[in-house]
Amino acid sequence: MGRDIRVVVIGAGMAGILAAIKLNQSGFRNFIVYEKADRVGGTWRENSYPGLTCDVPSHSYTYSFEPNPNWSHLLPPGPEIQAYFEGVAQKYGVEPFFAFNEEIVRCAFEGGRWHIETASGTRDAADIVIAATGVLHHPNYPSIPGLDSFAGDCFHSARWDHAVPLDGQRIGVIGTGSTGVQIVSALAGRAGKLSHFQRTPQWVMPTVNMAFTDEQKAAFREQPMLLRAVQNDPGYLEIAWNWTEAVVDQNSAMIDQFEAAGRAYLEETVQDPVLREKLRPAGRAGCKRLVQSGEYYQAIQHPNAALVDAPIERVEPTGVRTADGVLHELDLLVLATGFRTDQFLRPMNVTGRDGVALDDAWAKRPSAYMAISIPEFPNLFMLNGPTAPVGNFALIDVAERQWAYIAHFIDLIASGRVTEVSAKPGAFDRYEADRIAAARNTIWGSGCQSWYLDSEGVPSAWPWSYRHFASEMATPRFDAYDMRTPEMANANGQTAAAAQQPVPAE
Ligand code: NAP
Repeated sequence: MGRDIRVVVIGAGMAGILAAIKLNQSGFRNFIVYEKADRVGGTWRENSYPGLTCDVPSHSYTYSFEPNPNWSHLLPPGPEIQAYFEGVAQKYGVEPFFAFNEEIVRCAFEGGRWHIETASGTRDAADIVIAATGVLHHPNYPSIPGLDSFAGDCFHSARWDHAVPLDGQRIGVIGTGSTGVQIVSALAGRAGKLSHFQRTPQWVMPTVNMAFTDEQKAAFREQPMLLRAVQNDPGYLEIAWNWTEAVVDQNSAMIDQFEAAGRAYLEETVQDPVLREKLRPAGRAGCKRLVQSGEYYQAIQHPNAALVDAPIERVEPTGVRTADGVLHELDLLVLATGFRTDQFLRPMNVTGRDGVALDDAWAKRPSAYMAISIPEFPNLFMLNGPTAPVGNFALIDVAERQWAYIAHFIDLIASGRVTEVSAKPGAFDRYEADRIAAARNTIWGSGCQSWYLDSEGVPSAWPWSYRHFASEMATPRFDAYDMRTPEMANANGQTAAAAQQPVPAE
């Protein structure tokens, strides 16, 4: 290393823990991870609703370097994932690098460094900022008339109040995404009456969440090769990678196959023809994120459960009034209404070179070259940032590949050969034009409403195959980056002109 650089990581979720471990393993000690909450875990800390489960297989939803023989199920329950992240942070000795209850409110690139301020008044200065702030954490509160007038308990699915009783209660759940479906599946046998408010029927893919036996777990513990083989199960990887090719092509045969499987599952599982038609999805499978559940169709047929597909008109003190005039009386109303996904990094006040505000750079839509770097925001690198791959795929693998990419730039900056790195505006513009053109042909652009869409209806997810993503992350195009050298800073002051620099040899 040429100089002792300081790195600030924002967020101690899955990606922030990864960054801390990788920095530490690479010999960096002058870094800190600021976290607004009081412990690690990100989305798995914030979500604690009944039935919380990851629909990516547990052995794939695992850091590549830290396989876990003890996963209880094929699909891991949320609390187990939270415990896994806490355990990994502890095992890899990165806990001393976390600063909890420190919400960053300001990040400004001034005089060649990032100046950081937290809500509590802590100030810091860093050469590099890694944004590991996550995607799904700003609750989307629906603007339903009268919502504030509800006299019972009411909370968003990511703000679960565990003091509120559930057994025997009249519970309403709004939302039929993965979250709403998991909550309804968990509560159908417990609620006195469960009303599931559906605006749009979902494609539901049958899934069996098999428990690993004690013998299997013992074998995983005793045979590291076996554990590795399960972690890198070629069968699962093939389906998952092929799925990423299917979703970027609206005419994919694989999507037709998924639709056939979803239809067959609906026919086989739901007896009442009226309920079956209410549940029948209209658009293409995968347009909204696929819901995977082997329990939901059974749960909604429970004698105490009811699917309400009449539009919600308003919320009244005693319940939800639907457009057919019916008042659904409730003790508890759960808003499983998703997240605001346009809030990457915000509400932080972030300004780049020459005071350019992130809000202005992203006035149209949040984006970043290769989902990593924003022009004029030097040495700011994102993990799981805007335009990164999402959608039924393991975000841990995404973050690990992004880290391998970002590490090249961290090493260059630490070597002292380069002081500032950010995507060239031209490279970013070409990336955006290609991305938007490709995005329109993805399944997410096939006509439904979802959180994948930006304010202009353009899908914001990585619109090419996962293989393409893996290849881009493995071989960074250094010529797409504006890299400034110490000589430039010396010649022109800290804000050297953005000349087209020869790429420093790796
Ligand atoms: P979501 O997929 O965005 O679904 C939100 C639901 O709320 C939709 O059904 C939506 O209806 C409904 N909704 C929103 N506003 C409404 C309103 N005003 N009136 C009536 N309905 C309204 O949110 P989510 O279920 O929380 O899932 C978000 C993401 O979290 C998922 O896509 C997934 O990436 C992740 N997740 C993953 C897992 C997992 O197992 N890995 C589990 C849970 C969540 P419309 O469809 O009509 O818009």
